[in-house]
Amino acid sequence: MDEIRRGERGKQRTWQWLMVLTAHRGLCVYCGRSSATTIDHEKPIADDGADVWWNFVPACEDCNRWKKGRSANRWVADMDLHHMYPKERFATRAMSPRVYAGITRRVARVQREIADMDRREWFQLHYGREKHRNKADLFDILDRCKAELRSYPHYPWRTPRLRPSRMFCTRLICCGYQHPKARHLVAFLEPEEHAAFKRAVFNERLHEGDVLGRLIREYLAGRDRDRDDVA
Ligand SMILES: [Zn+2]
Ligand SMILES: [Zn+2]
Repeated sequence: MDEIRRGERGKQRTWQWLMVLTAHRGLCVYCGRSSATTIDHEKPIADDGADVWWNFVPACEDCNRWKKGRSANRWVADMDLHHMYPKERFATRAMSPRVYAGITRRVARVQREIADMDRREWFQLHYGREKHRNKADLFDILDRCKAELRSYPHYPWRTPRLRPSRMFCTRLICCGYQHPKARHLVAFLEPEEHAAFKRAVFNERLHEGDVLGRLIREYLAGRDRDRDDVA
């Protein structure tokens, strides 16, 4: 990419932070244990790694500081050397080989996750208007975002779009209900089902709206009853 100059450091937008910090289930890609609170440039800026999203991975502060200025491969190699020659001080402290052996694999997997265009689009459409002025702001928004993600049974970007749009999300699981088509029965019913419904309503001498209203009220009452039973 020609337009990205060496060492150029841009400020990331809030949704880009969220996109990175929620990857790898919100955990640091290096230790796999602590929550990720920082963005690490996998290929360090100092080493020609451009400051763009495909170079980002989620990291905890500790690992980020420790790895500083090295690529993951280099860091792993240093830790290997440290285990072979502990006296030569290749690493300032030891990480268990079981943990660091997986780093390169985890970094590759998380970079693929972050590069997923469907996922990226979801964050942009859902959180593109958010702005943070400091880390406290950011962590508030991050908590909200994680809570939203936990509320879905699947990652929303894995569910179908009702209509592709660059302006607003129409993923089935999160925002599909806002789609203009979702207001009409034909969006949910097969044509034969819709015809049968209209015929039944006509035969009962009723209006579609009355029947729908009754069905929806019955459905909601039933759902509340189920919930009370569980509680
Ligand atoms: Zn870590
Ligand atoms: Zn959505």
